[in-house]
Amino acid sequence: MTVTAHPVIELAGVSKSYQDVAALTAADLVVHRGEMLAVVGPSGSGKSTMLNIMGTLDLPSSGTVSIVGHAVEDLNDRELSALRAGTIGFVFQQFHLASGVPALDSVADGLLYSGRPRRERRRAAEEVLRRVGLGHRLFHEPQQLSGGEKQRVAIARAVVGNPPLLLADEPTGALDSRSGTVVMELLHELHEAGTTVVVITHDRDIAASLPREVRLRDGRIEHDPGTAAAAGALQPTGVER
Ligand code: ADP
Ligand code: MG
Repeated sequence: MTVTAHPVIELAGVSKSYQDVAALTAADLVVHRGEMLAVVGPSGSGKSTMLNIMGTLDLPSSGTVSIVGHAVEDLNDRELSALRAGTIGFVFQQFHLASGVPALDSVADGLLYSGRPRRERRRAAEEVLRRVGLGHRLFHEPQQLSGGEKQRVAIARAVVGNPPLLLADEPTGALDSRSGTVVMELLHELHEAGTTVVVITHDRDIAASLPREVRLRDGRIEHDPGTAAAAGALQPTGVER
């Protein structure tokens, strides 16, 4: 079986506790290649916990996690880092751009672990910055950019290595509604180009605008139309991205 036939994400009976807090309880979720979905719920409902587990940044207390067919609990730290670097792009609410670093270098740093030479990393960074509409901001530092522009730089950094999976935790949470709309349009474009996109949000309008809406409450999935209802989802085709 080829890797592309596996779901991109498979959580089975995943729970996560922090001391006495049950952040996530018995979560089952399958995400297929080419899907775009929202994970929505009020603050504290376990959304970030779920994203961190999907992104292999955190391990579950119980249950199993597979990412493109790799059982996460079977991987050591080095293998996990390699899986993340090659498979998953992350976008966070607060951008996480280093101050004083020009956009071009921030994005090129997204390829640090690719083994590609610096010149090539910068060329790829320029290309993806143009793609997100920031061809005129290549040498701007974060403090010279608006919030929406910063988030577009962060998205460019997340996707410069062409990861099949993009995980975004409240990507519009720190933006005004116009910038938020631009960022959501960009995520839709990436989805249309074949990336599997998971958007964490507490914004019910954004959630409702996505093809699949998974609702969390008190650490439990209380609603999930599932993959079959995910309009526009591409079934595995064997096309490697
Ligand atoms: P959301 O992203 O939906 O706001 P989180 O996943 O961040 O929710 O948090 C879910 C619950 O787990 C909350 O009660 C939160 O306080 C708790 N929690 C999350 N991370 C930690 C942590 N590192 N240590 C202790 N408790 C945590
Ligand atoms: Mg959160």
